[in-house]
Amino acid sequence: MDAGEDRVLLLRYGELSVKGAFTRRRMQSLLARNVEKALEKERVDHSGVRVTQGRIVVWSPDPLDRGLDVLSRVFGVVGVAPAWHRRFTGLDEVLEWARDRSVEAVRGRRFKVEARRVGVEGFTSMDVRRRLGALLVDEGGVVDLRAPEVVVNIEVRGEDVFLYHSEVRGPGGLPLGSEGRVLALVSGGFDSPVAAWMAMKRGTRVDIVFFNLGGREHELQARAVSEYLACRWGYGVRMDMYLAEMRWIFPILNARFPQGFWTVVLKRAMFIAAEALARRIGAKALVTGESLAQVASQTLHNLAVTDEAVEIMVLRPLIGMDKQETMDLARRIGTYPISEKTQEFCAIASPKPSTAVDRAKLNKLMEKHLPRETILENTLPHVHRIRLGEECNWQELTHRAVEHARIECRA
Ligand code: ATP
Ligand code: MG
Repeated sequence: MDAGEDRVLLLRYGELSVKGAFTRRRMQSLLARNVEKALEKERVDHSGVRVTQGRIVVWSPDPLDRGLDVLSRVFGVVGVAPAWHRRFTGLDEVLEWARDRSVEAVRGRRFKVEARRVGVEGFTSMDVRRRLGALLVDEGGVVDLRAPEVVVNIEVRGEDVFLYHSEVRGPGGLPLGSEGRVLALVSGGFDSPVAAWMAMKRGTRVDIVFFNLGGREHELQARAVSEYLACRWGYGVRMDMYLAEMRWIFPILNARFPQGFWTVVLKRAMFIAAEALARRIGAKALVTGESLAQVASQTLHNLAVTDEAVEIMVLRPLIGMDKQETMDLARRIGTYPISEKTQEFCAIASPKPSTAVDRAKLNKLMEKHLPRETILENTLPHVHRIRLGEECNWQELTHRAVEHARIECRA
């Protein structure tokens, strides 16, 4: 082994680097802190985390694969590469070293070299590309700049040289904890966990509220997916979940509202309770999984009417997404199988909803039969808070949800 050589994970972060100097430094150290917390939480041994210009280096993570997996779930990280590292001891020596480390990957294959140079003078990154390329051609590689099978990345950063042949994509976004707090309404369906994830991606601490409409199974399902989000993606912040009961509303809906109004009334009631909770915990916005015109309750008209019930800002990260795009994202972030497992058992039967509820009539009916105070009095005193991301038992919760669904819905 070459003297001074070691294995590291090299983290690339994107958007942070275009912020002003002060913000950038704050974001970088927050990201480095979250990286440490992620490694700590997943018990990946490492001997240090260092912020260099435009990169975060994690030294000797062990095992490397686990570190790679964990760090590709830290918000703010654009890519993670398992890399070799050594000190810069002159260009000739470094290029020979890079060649030796790359021969196996490149021989008989189409390759290209990508090079970066920061903080060293006397040569350009083009020199590095050309010379390392030539050395590897001598070893049996074939240069192909358009469709390479292997990309040899070499970065000379002051005293440090990094070499890597592959990179795992991270989520991008901004470090958790950099952008205040929001309260996400999570139902356990496919959409709302993805919406919560997207709010997390932009750096907000996301707390979750769930309104129980379907019994034990419904609650377990929402808890499972929320636990997963906190456990797998919540590195660096605390996440709480608020469990609220809303089945008290069904007799009122039945007796007092036309069926076409039900989903909008229900949503308004949830928003009103969620707004009060958000104010109490200092969350600046609600987050929902609604997407424009996906279902009857999500027409532009009905979304607008729903919004009018509250003053707090409602964020809808999925607003422009097709169902398929949301599903694809759910798969990528890992919430899909959890939502899917329980979803099939008992969908709450909903009557044919109106695509454009009569606003005046709705307001009048709600004032009379379901005023704000009624919603708050019936919901808030019984809210139960649990802390997420500690037990990481989402699999067990999913399993229990499925079991309960068998009992409750197949009967
Ligand atoms: P999802 O897939 O998230 O369940 P959906 O496509 O079924 O959404 P709706 O049932 O109209 O759509 O719900 C719209 C949004 O309202 C959800 O994305 C979620 O943010 C919120 N919501 C719905 N039901 C609940 C619930 N029981 N508890 C908390 N939030 C809810
Ligand atoms: Mg739903």
